[in-house]
Amino acid sequence: MGAARFFKPLIMTSSLTITGVDIFHLQFPPNHFVQREAWARQTVVRVRTSDPEVFGLGCATFTYRYRAVESTIREHLTPLIIGHDPRNSTELFQLMRYSGYWRNGPILNNAISGIDMALWDIKGKLAGLPCYQLWGGKTRVAALAYQHVNGDNTDEVLENARRLVGQGLKVIRCQLGHYSGPIDQIPQRLEGAPANGTCYLPEQRLAQIPQMFAALRREFGEELGILYDIHERLDPMDSLRLAKELEPYHPYFLEDPLAPEQMDWLRTFRAQTATKIAIGELFTHPLEIVPYAKESLFDYLRVHLSMMGGITPMLQLAHLCESFGIRTAWHGPPDLSLVGGAAMVHLDVALPNFGVQEWAARVPEEYEVFRGAPSLKEGYLYPSDGPGLGIVFDETLAQQFPPEGKDSEWLVMRRPDGSLTPP
Ligand code: MG
Repeated sequence: MGAARFFKPLIMTSSLTITGVDIFHLQFPPNHFVQREAWARQTVVRVRTSDPEVFGLGCATFTYRYRAVESTIREHLTPLIIGHDPRNSTELFQLMRYSGYWRNGPILNNAISGIDMALWDIKGKLAGLPCYQLWGGKTRVAALAYQHVNGDNTDEVLENARRLVGQGLKVIRCQLGHYSGPIDQIPQRLEGAPANGTCYLPEQRLAQIPQMFAALRREFGEELGILYDIHERLDPMDSLRLAKELEPYHPYFLEDPLAPEQMDWLRTFRAQTATKIAIGELFTHPLEIVPYAKESLFDYLRVHLSMMGGITPMLQLAHLCESFGIRTAWHGPPDLSLVGGAAMVHLDVALPNFGVQEWAARVPEEYEVFRGAPSLKEGYLYPSDGPGLGIVFDETLAQQFPPEGKDSEWLVMRRPDGSLTPP
């Protein structure tokens, strides 16, 4: 009988403390999804430790308020966690969430998320394991992804969808009329109405959307997953009407048919339509989800990892949703770094109740700055098998992509009479 093998106890007994937090803001060039301007400012956090070779990366991207997130990390959270053991990620999450008494909100949550993800990255690196192994290992080989196409009309949507189908995508979000348009090009704009911002009139599209679905089904049959994003912009009854009218075309799901303020309508949706619902892009606290999850009033959990505070709260919420037959469909837009993207895909392959992963089209420069980020092949995402989140960050190259100071106006959304409307 050979000598017994023991794990090296160094990891759990040696002293290891957090010594500092670095913050990086990046803004990559526009891609075909973001034609107007390079608005997707990304924020990445690096947590350093007393061992120079042990550090972690996290995503803290709140593209529209990134300086506020930076200030929260630098002035408040960094002094709080320096000197603590980075391996105690649950305790540190609680410390960061509760030590300001008032908790929650996208600024604080993103600040916490950057550090929380980095602590999980550190834990994986110390263990020599990819993060998905820390959460029970793989339940699937890769994560089914969906990408987005726009079009001013059905023909344009069809043409763009053909391109993604050709690339192997199995699920596509097909959007008619983009998410918004330049307000000064709206023909019915009243004289004197402010010209800043954008305009989107989804009611005008209501009749066209089922026709687009019919054309998509004619061309692609039932094999292709097709979904549509209402982006919380319709009145609940219009949204419900669309959900019912789309039933014959079997949408993969309807994305965010209700704004956070209208969630009680979910019960009406469930009673009225068989169209599946993904909900939660704008949520910032797990308790916003729980009342609706425990009644199984939606099908896909669509929250944004960093907006909810990182990996620690998402593991809890995903497990809770599993009990109610709800799958995950994490929000995966360009205003989320590939570090956050890696965290999502590690969760996707580990969680039994994974559903589908939004994966925004990205420019090649992003993959050069964040080497080891998940790769999209034939419609599936594969996480790195390297330790932790598996990302190697090129800090020097990242300096070539500094953020613009100017805030985007695409969420300043007006109707033709000039009134502001929630985006
Ligand atoms: Mg959406």
